[in-house]
Amino acid sequence: MDVKHLIFDMDDTLYPPCGAMHNGINQRIISGVAEFFGISIEEAAEKRKANIIFHSTTLEWLRSEGLTDVEWWFRHMHPENEADELQFIPELPPFLESIQIPKIILTNSPMEHADRVLEKLKVRKYFDDVLDLRKTKMLGKPYPKAYEIALQTVGGTFDDTLFLDDLVKYTDGWEMLGGTAVLVGNSNGTKINPNAKKLQEALSHVPPTSKGHTIRLPSIYELPSLLK
Ligand SMILES: [Mg+2]
Repeated sequence: MDVKHLIFDMDDTLYPPCGAMHNGINQRIISGVAEFFGISIEEAAEKRKANIIFHSTTLEWLRSEGLTDVEWWFRHMHPENEADELQFIPELPPFLESIQIPKIILTNSPMEHADRVLEKLKVRKYFDDVLDLRKTKMLGKPYPKAYEIALQTVGGTFDDTLFLDDLVKYTDGWEMLGGTAVLVGNSNGTKINPNAKKLQEALSHVPPTSKGHTIRLPSIYELPSLLK
């Protein structure tokens, strides 16, 4: 495969899934679910665990449950000081600079979050574009529309574009459409549930042009050996 474009997930892909931001995001997801349903944190964690497998994101699930104020969710999820939870990683900017292939970000979070994270990590300039949840019609990964918009943005195809993400649900979507995905790290969540009807249906509507596959990498820093 002659890789001409790279599409990167951001959270838990550009930085490791073990720090304060990873934990902060997870805590805010659960507290937001608790607030929306008016239930305890414990109940919210259980309820989300049982339902998230059928949806692209927690937000999509809550919208199916009647949430209309999407901006409330974004404000709850992403307080203005959220970047305080993230540490600058000195090796990340030179690493991204060393990869001479055009790169964009495809994230299921809103742009205000992406802006803060990329600024804190000092890596915004290495990406030609940032596609957030609003730019992907609020559906996000693993809906085909999100990948389609990403491919249109880079001017690439499944044959010349590599997609990197830490969540298997999202690399699966890319693979099901015929692309080559890189599953980063070893904290990858769960696969797309066979009973996630809306997701399965959306993905099966787009017949793959070629057989997709997924390559595992311990971290993005192993990418150069894969590109050789
Ligand atoms: Mg991620």
